[in-house]
Amino acid sequence: MTPEPKPPIPEAANVPFVHDTPPHDVAALKRAISNKLMFQIGKDPRSAQPVDWLHAASYAVRDLMVERWFDTTHARNEQDAKQVYYLSMEFLIGRAFTNALLAMEITEPLRQALRELGVDMNAIADLEPDAALGNGGLGRLAACFLDSMATLGIPGYGYGIRYDYGMFRQTIVDGRQVETPDYWLTDGNPWEFPRPEVVYRVQFGGHVIKEGDRARWVDTHDVEAMAYDTIIPGYDTTTTNTLRLWSAKATKEIDLGAFNRGDYFGAVEQKNHSENVSRVLYPDDSTDAGRELRLHQEYFFCSASVQDLMRRYLQTHTGFDQFADKVSIHLNDTHPVLAIPELMRLFLDVHHLPFNDAWRICQGVFSYTNHTLMSEALETWPIDMLGRVLPRHLQIILDINAYFLTRLTQKHGHDVNLMRHVSLVNESGTRSVRMAYLAVLASHSVNGVSKLHSELMQQSIFADFAKLWPARFNNKTNGITQRRWLALANPPLAALLDKTIGAHWRRDLSELAKLRPLLGSSDLVKEFQGAKRSNKARFAAWLKTHHGVTIPVDALYDVQVKRIHEYKRQLLNVLHVITRYLCILEQPGSVTVPRVVIFSGKAASAYHMAKLIIQLINDVAKTINNDDRVGDLLKVVFVPNYSVSAAEVIIPAADLSEQISTAGTEASGTGNMKLALNGALTIGTLDGANVEIQENVGADNIFIFGLTAGEVTDLRMTGYQPNAIVGANPELARVLETLRDGRFSPEEPHRYQSIYDLLVNWGDHYMLLADYASYIATQSKVDALYRKPDEWAKKALTNVAGMGPFSSDRTIAEYAEQIWHAKPLLS
Ligand SMILES: *Cc1c(COP(=O)(O)O)cnc(C)c1O
Repeated sequence: MTPEPKPPIPEAANVPFVHDTPPHDVAALKRAISNKLMFQIGKDPRSAQPVDWLHAASYAVRDLMVERWFDTTHARNEQDAKQVYYLSMEFLIGRAFTNALLAMEITEPLRQALRELGVDMNAIADLEPDAALGNGGLGRLAACFLDSMATLGIPGYGYGIRYDYGMFRQTIVDGRQVETPDYWLTDGNPWEFPRPEVVYRVQFGGHVIKEGDRARWVDTHDVEAMAYDTIIPGYDTTTTNTLRLWSAKATKEIDLGAFNRGDYFGAVEQKNHSENVSRVLYPDDSTDAGRELRLHQEYFFCSASVQDLMRRYLQTHTGFDQFADKVSIHLNDTHPVLAIPELMRLFLDVHHLPFNDAWRICQGVFSYTNHTLMSEALETWPIDMLGRVLPRHLQIILDINAYFLTRLTQKHGHDVNLMRHVSLVNESGTRSVRMAYLAVLASHSVNGVSKLHSELMQQSIFADFAKLWPARFNNKTNGITQRRWLALANPPLAALLDKTIGAHWRRDLSELAKLRPLLGSSDLVKEFQGAKRSNKARFAAWLKTHHGVTIPVDALYDVQVKRIHEYKRQLLNVLHVITRYLCILEQPGSVTVPRVVIFSGKAASAYHMAKLIIQLINDVAKTINNDDRVGDLLKVVFVPNYSVSAAEVIIPAADLSEQISTAGTEASGTGNMKLALNGALTIGTLDGANVEIQENVGADNIFIFGLTAGEVTDLRMTGYQPNAIVGANPELARVLETLRDGRFSPEEPHRYQSIYDLLVNWGDHYMLLADYASYIATQSKVDALYRKPDEWAKKALTNVAGMGPFSSDRTIAEYAEQIWHAKPLLS
């Protein structure tokens, strides 16, 4: 039987409930922190470690959010508001402490309270581990969306997995990436509320018994999903939302039989096996999509979430007529697509709805965001595996497919080719289910994440469906929350903006346009330069403290921070670095602008080429940084362990933002937005959201180079010939030669032969060399502009002024209005 969350005590609900509303002033905060330290942490100031102070302060701050949280829940119930459930395998939240202070605008009182207790707030804030429950852009987007939903008052929940181990920690040893586990819960997590009473049974395996048109799924191995709730505060509003993450618990604590036989290992083995489901975040590795544990993880969190939202709906409604008016389920990529057959299963097998009705409701409820066009990254599950792990869901998926193909034939005739193309089952090779197609079928809205990507999506992977149902497809360009990525990350620029255009940009980023008429002010330009310089000094100091690396402050900071992947073309950046190095050595005086080239990012643990690129960056850095002939003209830094909190220090310090993916491969990018918002100029291809950044900041204020997406496709058709490109460009030939003559790895001269071969002899899929000349020429334009600091700063400020549309508040307002049809809660 499915365990149900236990009911409250009816009598207690009717008695007047008196509690304290914690005041927000310095004296009250000081007392609250002291009480937490003493009664909750069990320490006094003589024995308290810095992390104890962090936890005491965190609990005190969390208390201030709880009342708002309950008020929001009550308001929702009273208004019977539509709920948005955002299902995502990843939430890359980062730190919570300073974010909560910002949301409640108590940063300064809290700083003062701690100071009076003898504690430095910045120092303890730095001890908080990142909640790194995500790989990169997709998970960070989910985190920005939660922030914006709460801020806009859109009632909803994030649903995901509470991984014990988040994104691995990266260290660099002898130039190579070494991964260590990120057990982020070592010191406990003061932000979460464990809900041991909110548990759902999630079934796996077994088989299905058909009784008439009823199905029973039996003999399953079950795992329990237990909820952990985190409050997501909105900014400048009392509305809060909830991030509910599921943790796996074995259904039987231990096997008593084995225990009695003295088989202690056997007694806990089953338990450990079950609990593995939420043990570790999968690395973003598009090649290992067939792993069975991943399938378990996906179903685990989909099932718990769907059961939970169904229970919540049924608490205040009877029947399902209103379901689609009260519930929106958003699928962040295909990872949560099993929520579709799971909701169908509950409708069919538990609530006995007719298939047609159940399916119609599903189509009113689900919406889906696509994040990649790379065919190797599109999830499919082998029929065999699906039938073994989720036999009932496989049946439902096949029923959906049959229903769909029948109706297709009725409308479009018996077109075998079309049927083969759009079938949920890929019949070529290992028979498998195409999860993206299931998402498209079940959703009333399918969106891409930038204008370009949304167009390409309809021309490529979903072309057949876009012809069948053009109205279903739309674009919602990504955004970022300015609260974290400007207000928290960049205090000097935030203060300058407050002084210049007022503080309301935190709520409404379109306010940044008010900078436009002021761009001629030389005072503003000077102050902007001052802010940038202090961010660079802060980053240089951080780098020295945390990584023992010294860099000059007065240099152009050239930044590429993101996952390491061939399509993002860190290698192209490296080719520019080598080009520059050779120029410094061989044409003294030709390079006049000092640069620090900063890389940061993780490679998936099984992605050999990405790891080799990391090693190359580190070898190049070592060679250049130790070459006395170069001096401060060129420094190369690989910052280990890219993360949200590292990004918060690096990005405000950037002068130049590298967004150099092969056109047509980066769906949107959000790093590009963070950097431009912080006053970096972009050097980039016309890819993803770069296109829209250019539209908004103006073509004169961005460095665009390289092939367009259309030209990339054409070149692939006509035949990319890297050899010919190298033959015609002696400078490029010399640069590439350094990869195979062992210049950067004298101890192992052939270390980078495979990179040379990939670029020159095989012709890499991302066609690096096709964009080389254009990239190098554009980097010269960057240098030329940097020699005119006031012009540079004015263009950087123009970027800031144009970034209003890239707030995730704008994105979420569009989702709410056009996809979810969800309205803000009335306060
Ligand atoms: C924003 C962000 C990303 C995404 O960066 P892209 O440049 O868009 O790939 C990845 N990781 C972290 C930690 C981020 O903050």
